[in-house]
Amino acid sequence: MSLFKSTLKQIKKASTLMELDEEMVSILSNPNRIVEVSVPVRMDDGTLKIFKGFRVEHNNYCGPYKGGIRYHQHVDMEEVKALSAWMSLKCSVVGIPLGGGKGGIIVNPKELSEGELERMTRKYTEMIAPIIGPDKDVPAPDVNTNGKIMAWIADEYAKIVGEEVPGVVTGKPLEVGGIEGRDTATAMGGFFVLEDIMKEKGMEPAKTKVAVQGFGNAGGIAAKLMVEAGYNVVAASDSKGGIYCNHGIFPDDIMKHKLEKKSVTDLGPHMVELHAKDDTDCYQVSNEELLEVDCDVLVLAALENQITEKNADKIKAKIVLELANGPTSPEADEILAERGVIVVPDILANAGGVTVSYFEMLQNASGRSWTRDEVNKKLKEIMVPSCKEVSLNMNKYNCTMREAAFITSISRIEKKIMQKGRV
Ligand code: NAD
Repeated sequence: MSLFKSTLKQIKKASTLMELDEEMVSILSNPNRIVEVSVPVRMDDGTLKIFKGFRVEHNNYCGPYKGGIRYHQHVDMEEVKALSAWMSLKCSVVGIPLGGGKGGIIVNPKELSEGELERMTRKYTEMIAPIIGPDKDVPAPDVNTNGKIMAWIADEYAKIVGEEVPGVVTGKPLEVGGIEGRDTATAMGGFFVLEDIMKEKGMEPAKTKVAVQGFGNAGGIAAKLMVEAGYNVVAASDSKGGIYCNHGIFPDDIMKHKLEKKSVTDLGPHMVELHAKDDTDCYQVSNEELLEVDCDVLVLAALENQITEKNADKIKAKIVLELANGPTSPEADEILAERGVIVVPDILANAGGVTVSYFEMLQNASGRSWTRDEVNKKLKEIMVPSCKEVSLNMNKYNCTMREAAFITSISRIEKKIMQKGRV
């Protein structure tokens, strides 16, 4: 099943529970605009290469389209459509006045030189320039894109429109209009939501074992926050594999190793040394095994479709925190729900990123700026009430947290559509 078909299935399920009008279901199931571009790039060896790129604008009933740009060899239109729909739902579930969009280019950026990457980014910007802008559609970083790439987009856009428009993208470096705290926002938002659920369930951090899949921006920082808050983070993985350490891992150590271009798995022997325990306390695990280790909280922070009908019955965690987009398939959702596992859905769990991006847009429009502490405080003020509202809908509709998050979000979008009289 394509990722967009999974999204449609999720929308349909929530719509049935809330008895949503069929016309509304159709609106939510069809992106407003789909753009496909062929991006010509002069490579360093003088040859010309064409890269296929996309920008999908799902809906803008709540505000300008908002969503990242992904550079990956496996990007396809169905994936970008799914990600753009989730962005609409994500912004709405946390009540920020933005719609949903997403972009992507089919490319393995690790195979490009810095110059090739910049030329490709600038050409892609030129091709989507007519549809982006601070009040129209605001891109941001996603997998394999970063602040530097956002700065290139902002610079190219400024050349095209003849003035500096920092608000055309978010996730920029601080020097060119970025915001303090964007680097930690996704993990921090997920952490606030987890803390709220833990309190509700009477779970204590010190007695909670955590496994983290995907030790990148979202997962690595989440692990660090959890260790600082007293959780026992016992396992972590990246694309090459993972480690399990019963007495807890050291996120700072792993981060340091990753910056030196080593994988989490390289830490196996090193971790044993650090803990001065025997080998049975710390061992390497495969990517598949990581998902099934003995833990209370499983943080998914890598890619889509990690828990499927094939492994859902082997997950031991009581809570699955989806920092990645779409890591659990609809079939797995059903199995986990039957087994009483709480899945904190992506559209809520990772909404901290876009929330702080919204703060960045406010900063750019007002010329003001906030400190990291102010940003984190404002983020908490949005994430915790949003989580509580989803919990209320969970009880009201007697449904899963994902269904409740979709219901919360869709009802807000529905109200906007009705108020605007768009149909
Ligand atoms: P990233 O590239 O910084 O990190 C991803 C990590 O996952 C890397 O360490 C990679 O090695 C690892 N990985 C890849 N395949 C794996 C596998 N099979 N098993 C274990 N690890 C694997 O990316 P990121 O920004 O942290 O994003 C991760 C996910 O979170 C994506 O789904 C992204 O869309 C989502 N997300 C990120 C943000 C954000 O602000 N960074 C916001 C919302 C959602």
